[in-house]
Parts: sequence; structure tokens; C-alpha cells
Amino acid sequence: MYWTLRLALLFLCFLLVGSCCVDPVDQTAYFCLGEMSLKEEVELGDAYAPNIDAMFDGVYHDPAAADYLGQLILEMAGHSVRAEDFAWKFTILNSSTPNAFAVPGGYIYITRGLLAALETEGQFISVMGHELGHVEHRHSHQAMGRNLIGGILVGLIGTAESAVTRNREPGLASSIGAAGAQLFLLRYDRGQELQSDKRGVYYAAAMGYDPAEATKTFAYFQRLEEESGGVQIEWLRTHPLNENRITDIHAEIAEKHPELAGRPQGSFRPYRQGNDSFAQIIQTLGRAEPTYEKYDAAWTALGKALEDGKKGPLEQALASFEECAAAIPDEPLFHTAIGACHLALESFAEARFEQGDYRRAAAEFELASDLFPMSPAPLYYYGLSCEKLGRSEEAVRAYRKVVELDQEGSLGAKARERLRSLGAARGR
Ligand SMILES: [Zn+2]
Repeated sequence: MYWTLRLALLFLCFLLVGSCCVDPVDQTAYFCLGEMSLKEEVELGDAYAPNIDAMFDGVYHDPAAADYLGQLILEMAGHSVRAEDFAWKFTILNSSTPNAFAVPGGYIYITRGLLAALETEGQFISVMGHELGHVEHRHSHQAMGRNLIGGILVGLIGTAESAVTRNREPGLASSIGAAGAQLFLLRYDRGQELQSDKRGVYYAAAMGYDPAEATKTFAYFQRLEEESGGVQIEWLRTHPLNENRITDIHAEIAEKHPELAGRPQGSFRPYRQGNDSFAQIIQTLGRAEPTYEKYDAAWTALGKALEDGKKGPLEQALASFEECAAAIPDEPLFHTAIGACHLALESFAEARFEQGDYRRAAAEFELASDLFPMSPAPLYYYGLSCEKLGRSEEAVRAYRKVVELDQEGSLGAKARERLRSLGAARGR
């Protein structure tokens, strides 16, 4: 045991000696597991960005909003100490969950849900400036180093314990792996939140906005937390709120921008309150919001219907998705959801068929086929169900249609075979 412990301590010392990184904003040193080069930082972001799009329901399609807000973000990045480091990229994610974040490499995100909840352009700038602050400070890299120390200590204890108990513990290696996976899901600490809040104040003031707008966002999240009934709000999980943050922001403004104290609202950008491009973006989002709320509710209902194996609620969810698609036809999420319902209905019907409940299977395949008339599969199985029920004329009609839809495919070939065996092979 003595030998193992000594080896582990030597390893820890090796880590500590070779590992000091510098915060790009204030040039202070922090513990890290090796310096991360700019190239590595960019590669990390490039590798992670596609996953983020997928995790948050893809990109929200509103070219006017993306363009206007993207310009603001570029202007903001121009004020960054790391302005030249990255090709800054701004994305509105299609998730209804209110959230904003930035990842290494200059990728900056806000969700449709949070954007719709903002009231002013200045508020948008302070939220995004805060997120940019995390990237400028390399907070995820710093937190990773911090977690690694924790992980290594846990690993050491594990090593010592296993030496005593002769158990093989996963210890060190697994701690490092877990820390790596947590890179973007870290909870920032109080000090980091304060540092980023200060960056939010800096950007808002540099761009002509009222930096105190930031406090409106805190009030919003506080309200959300109170209303949530204990459900964890994603943004609050990574950005812990405490009442000090509001006082700290006012203190920062008083210290760094005393000239802003008592300035009238109209003297801050965007100057024409309530009639600017930002207000129009929010109004458009606000009009779409009931449709997205319906979509979110139907998606929850669909999940439950599949879990319970109930077809009625599934059909209700499908009806809701169709209403959403009728309201906003170019939203791909709604069409994907309709497709998911179609697949689910088909699998319900397949289960009926396998159970030998051909009457219900026929009805369900017929419904699935009505929804997706160009898809040969439900029609083919509708034909099989009809055959089982002795309804050969309907089966023949279905198979002929399948042959038309799937001339070269395997279902087309199968349908022709069924037609032959039913003695109805004429005409293809
Ligand atoms: Zn934060």
C-alpha cells in the first residue's frame, strides 16, 4: 500500500508542477492539465457544435432574426479581448427550454425559448456578453482543471483504499474520463459567474446599452424557478443565481461606469424603445409561441402514449402536430413529429398483426397509409391483414397500389407475388 500511495503522490506532483495556464482576460494563473492551444480550443468547438445543434432541436429558422442578432454578436465580439481568436458564430437553437451558452471556439447560442422571454435588446446583449465572458476566461478549461484535482484526489483515495482492501477500483482513469465528458455541462462557480457578469456589463456599456438591463434576466429566471414547482431550469443548473449577483452588477457599474448613473432610459441604445428591430423579432416569436407550446405538449403526450402503448393519445398527438404544421408550414420539427407518429402507428399495427388481431391491424395500417399515401409499407401490410380477414378484393386493390408505388423495390416484388397467389396477377 505504501508503494502505491507514493507512486500516486509522485504523479500528482508531476501534474502540479507542469500545469499552470493563464486566463486570457485578466492574465491570472489557474491550475490546468496542460495548456490548451488556440488550435485545440477551435477544434474542440468545431467537433462539439454539430452535437449542440442536434441536442437543442436544431437551428431555429428565422433568417431576419439570425441576421440582425448575428450582426450584434459580431459587433460584441469585436470588443472582446479574444476578438481575433475565433470566427465567431451565433445560432438561435429551436428548443423551447430557456437557455443561452457559449462553447470554446467562438460558438454562441441562445434558445428560441429564452429569446422569446427577453424584453429588450440591451438585455440580449448583457446575456450574451455574460456567455461570451465564459469563453473569454476559458472557464470550462479552468473548471476542468478544478474538477481534475477533485478527480485525482478521489482517484488517490481509491488507490489507497484498493491497496488496503485488494479491490480493483476504477479510480483515476475513470475520473479523468468523466471530467472530460462534463466539459460543457459544468456548473460555473460563484467567482466565475461574477467574472462573466462583469464582462456582460463591459459589453453592454461598450456598445451603448444600459448594463443594468442584465438584472431583468435574473428576475426572469427567478420567476421561472418559483413557477417551476421544483423542476430544474437548465440555465440555472449551470449558472447558479444568488441575490448577490444583482448587487454585484450594480457595484460594477458604479465602479467602472459612474457616468452612466442616472442617465435617462432614452439616452441608451437602441434609442427608440419598443419600435426597433429587436421588438419585431420578439413579437414574431411571441406570435409563434402558442404553436410551439402545443408542439411541446403534444410531444410529451406522444412519449407517454408510446410508454403506455395507447393508440388514442397517439392519434391526438398526431392531430396536434398537424395543426402546428398547418400554422407554421416551414417548421421541420412539426413534420418530423408527424413522421414519428406515423412510425409509431405502424408499429402499433404491426404488433396487432403479430397478435393475430387482423381486424384492428387492417384499420391501423389503413390509417397509416392515409397519412402517408406515398409510402408502400403500410399499404402492403394492410393487404396482408385483409387477406387474413378474407377480404381479398381489398387486398388485391392494396397490392396493385404497392406495385405502382414500389415498382423496383422489394415490397413491389412481394406484392406481385401476393397478386399471383390470389390469381390476380394481371396488369402491373
Ligand atoms: Zn454564467
